[in-house]
Amino acid sequence: MISRFGAAMPTGIARRLADHLTRADGQEDCCFVLWRPSTGAHRTSALLVEVVLPVDGERIVRGTASFTSDYFSRAAQLAAARGCGVGLIHSHPHRRGWQGLNPTDHTAEERFAAQALAITGLPLLGMTFSGADQGHSARIWQRHGRRHYEPLHAESVRVAGEQFTATFHPQLMPAPPAQATQLRTVSAWGTAVQDTLARLNVGVVGTGSVGMQIVEALARTGIGQLTLLDFDSVEHVNLDRLLHATHRDADLHRPKVDLAAETARRAATNPDFRVVPLEASLVEPEGFAAAADCDVLFSCVDRPWPRQVLNLLAYAHLIPVVDGGVRVATRNGRMRGAEWRALTAAPGRACLECHGQYDPAHVALERSGLLDDPAYIVGLATDHELRRKENVYVFSHAAAAAQLIQFITMVSAPAGIANTGAHLHHLATGTIDRDVKHCSAKCPYGGELHLLGDAAPRVTGSHPAAEKACTARHSAPVPVDSPPPER
Ligand SMILES: [Zn+2]
Ligand SMILES: [Zn+2]
Repeated sequence: MISRFGAAMPTGIARRLADHLTRADGQEDCCFVLWRPSTGAHRTSALLVEVVLPVDGERIVRGTASFTSDYFSRAAQLAAARGCGVGLIHSHPHRRGWQGLNPTDHTAEERFAAQALAITGLPLLGMTFSGADQGHSARIWQRHGRRHYEPLHAESVRVAGEQFTATFHPQLMPAPPAQATQLRTVSAWGTAVQDTLARLNVGVVGTGSVGMQIVEALARTGIGQLTLLDFDSVEHVNLDRLLHATHRDADLHRPKVDLAAETARRAATNPDFRVVPLEASLVEPEGFAAAADCDVLFSCVDRPWPRQVLNLLAYAHLIPVVDGGVRVATRNGRMRGAEWRALTAAPGRACLECHGQYDPAHVALERSGLLDDPAYIVGLATDHELRRKENVYVFSHAAAAAQLIQFITMVSAPAGIANTGAHLHHLATGTIDRDVKHCSAKCPYGGELHLLGDAAPRVTGSHPAAEKACTARHSAPVPVDSPPPER
């Protein structure tokens, strides 16, 4: 039984629904959709994958919209054939905001709940489209007993791809009251954007030099929840780049997520702020499930395997991934240049693989454990991308800022533009390259993996280096002369 529910759709589906449900004569309309489940640690999302429009005679519009049982059967059979669930969406043309279930809607949906489950094996999805603000509301009809079906309301309905928008259930996800601390922020982009940010669960994968700065910025900006993933400890070699890290943190080999969570709580301006730190890798099942609960993910990792997993989350699970990185070019001990990049992976935009952010051939190397084998790494050419270690604080800072700009642009759409493409900054020339390409024709992320949700191939596994790091930390004796870090 699902206990926390959400719905999500790509921009293209949202447009198709708005086109169909917005009638010139102002009357109510309806249609069916197909959906697939995407399951996280706590929340299950219904991903809308297809709109099944009515053909002649399948639905009747007379003030209110009704449909024939043939139309329902056609949609349900189609759903079953594709391994999907079926959903009914109808419009409230003049309403705005989240729509609950009035008695008429309740009866109409309840009538098809048993058949939908019997034909597709998945519960009926019910949705309402508010014509006045183009927002969506959703619920799922679960079986509680013989002929007993009850709606479970969604916490939010997300639209992702070009722009990120969301509507929220007013009781399950209330907007926090306005904060005096956020006056300057809210006066910049308005209450609507702030109310969205305040209710998002944003994942930061990797809380190293770039991730730690992103965590700080998101907490101050007023994000509702941060989910933090990292299995590394603070070491002395990090102190030149890791925001907030002290010598004592390094002496104690303090988990980076622990430091990130503590400093995020200190910086947060959202009164309902929550932070979930996980000493795990994204490629482990526990890390993956936590990431699948997020609304947006920041990729602050440099390894190919987690980047591939993030790519899958962006396209198969519809969770936009804001990726970035730094590359410093040196020769004979001198810096020749530096580049930092920021881009967003989501349906309708090119993926991390098509942007060359990881090489799929290297994923197999990492999974085999070779990338954590010092002998293997030493054998690589000194300028091999898997060996590069050069980085400095200012470049991490620049990369973090560039990633945050991607995120804010996607959510706030200044001047109506939410997608400004991938950005590559060059230090030596002071220029920025902008790339608005799409996935290649053969790319599986833009193709067969698109919106597969739980049906996507498993990409997680055991990660010996992450397990070793966590075990070592928890079995290591704490030096008696150093007090535990402040909480
Ligand atoms: Zn209605
Ligand atoms: Zn691609």
